[in-house]
Amino acid sequence: MIVSMKPGATKEQVDRVRSLVEEMGFQVRSIQGDERVVIAAVGVEDVTHAIEAIRSADGVASAVPISAPYKLVSKQVRKERTVVAAGDATFGGSEFAVIAGPCSVETEEQINACAQAVAASGAKFLRGGAYKPRSSPYSFQGLEEQGLKLLRSAGDAHGLKVVTEIMTIGNVDLVAKYTDVMQIGARNIQNFPLLKAIGASTSCPVLLKRGLSTSIEELLLSAEYILSHGNPNVVLCERGIRTFETATRNTLDINAVPVLNKLTHLPVILDPAHATGKRDLIAPLTRAAVAVGADGMMVEIHPNPPKAWSDGAQSLTFPQFAEIMRDLKPYIALWKARRAESTAA
Ligand code: PEP
Ligand code: MN
Repeated sequence: MIVSMKPGATKEQVDRVRSLVEEMGFQVRSIQGDERVVIAAVGVEDVTHAIEAIRSADGVASAVPISAPYKLVSKQVRKERTVVAAGDATFGGSEFAVIAGPCSVETEEQINACAQAVAASGAKFLRGGAYKPRSSPYSFQGLEEQGLKLLRSAGDAHGLKVVTEIMTIGNVDLVAKYTDVMQIGARNIQNFPLLKAIGASTSCPVLLKRGLSTSIEELLLSAEYILSHGNPNVVLCERGIRTFETATRNTLDINAVPVLNKLTHLPVILDPAHATGKRDLIAPLTRAAVAVGADGMMVEIHPNPPKAWSDGAQSLTFPQFAEIMRDLKPYIALWKARRAESTAA
């Protein structure tokens, strides 16, 4: 339910509405605005009764239900774009965010070489998996804490923020110690206990990847788990969904970007690497990411892709990555101009 107070409503009136709402079993999640206070309250499924009562309270201009099944992530609760920040590197602000790095952290030399290539390109985020969700139990599973340490020191040595995947609740504190952004992978998007734990126990930015067969509504509901448990710093990632098409690893749902931009205030980035599974298809889709108005993108790079311990086929060589970043410059300049216009509007 969204309660809008009348302009000039007194602090006592706002406090009274707040306690009324809480007595009815809602949790008040945000109170915004000075002139015209807007209160977002969630946690009660049937709001019909409550709305009647709140509408008649002193100082209330309107009380409306939040129509979508997800609440805090909805545009109805917050009109302005959310900016998720990892230090001075942001998603959803005035910069097109670029995350690049290997699928898995393998060795010190490998991750350092990647970090150097990422920093040289002007990108701000280095990725690298230390806990890998692999389809086969016989595939490389990640270097675990050793991988986190190598990623952190490579990022620090090159002035980069780091992004790495978290797979289990037991690792939240450990991963938070090393990383700037926690990735929840496609396979864990409906691991509800993990979403709750990450919501409740950290404010570390979360990169939430859409699942292989997750609808946009389910993606938003998974984000809602994190926000409703206390962590507002969520970035959504479209990484391709599984369809009947076999020419590519997955099918990039480019629709998802404008659809999500309509429904949510959270930043949205695209991952053309996992979407296609093929390195020669990545360049055109990075241009699509910028053109469609995504807030950023994530790609995989490797010093020697054929030798990569995971996802080599979709990993770019360093020269390919540098060329993509060079070619994107005029597109990103247009992106920035449009972003500045829409922020000013
Ligand atoms: C990854 O980013 O390496 C990864 C495993 O991605 P996804 O969860 O999208 O498959
Ligand atoms: Mn990968």
